[in-house]
Amino acid sequence: MKIQLVFATNNAHKLEEVRAIVGNRVNLLSLNDINCHEDIDETGLTLEENALIKSKYIKENYNFNCFGDDTGLEVEALNGAPGVFSARYAGDAHNSEANMLKLLKEMEGKENRNAQFRTVISLILDNKEYLFEGVIKGRIATEKKGENGFGYDPIFIPDGYDKTFAELGNDIKNEISHRAIATQRLCTFLNNL
Ligand code: IMP
Repeated sequence: MKIQLVFATNNAHKLEEVRAIVGNRVNLLSLNDINCHEDIDETGLTLEENALIKSKYIKENYNFNCFGDDTGLEVEALNGAPGVFSARYAGDAHNSEANMLKLLKEMEGKENRNAQFRTVISLILDNKEYLFEGVIKGRIATEKKGENGFGYDPIFIPDGYDKTFAELGNDIKNEISHRAIATQRLCTFLNNL
């Protein structure tokens, strides 16, 4: 029988990416599907904590098996910033344009542009908690390029490519991204149950 899981996100882009990766192996429900319209506060100091806050919230308030994810862009020359604060880098507004502009400004004149996206997924299944991680290494572009994706995609160039995630498009992103790797690990775990 197919496993039913709620993905604890209000981000339509993330939902679309994860749906494309899990395919029909999982009966994936959105927060909308379970009539959850609250914003879940991300008060953790690590990606792991925030991912768990999201999955626990759904388990405790809606009693579904579920998973939540949290993602950070970790930049070497900035000692791992913006990291867990990626969404609020330029203030509380969760404004991707402002976040990218701030990051490009911080990176002005820096030779080392190495960075990585890291996603942590927290799964709660039958009252047990599991974590899955996905990392993709790359570099911060010198200017925004591309129209696809979301968040910091227009300024992140994955290793092995000379285009940003936003230029490469969803098919390539869904094969190689941090979220794709973490989601594949989740799928492998579910397939082996
Ligand atoms: P969160 O995981 O929703 O908390 O996202 C943290 C921040 O990283 C937000 O500003 C997102 O827009 C950004 N972000 C999350 N995932 C991605 C991604 O796959 N590409 C680019 N930016 C992302």
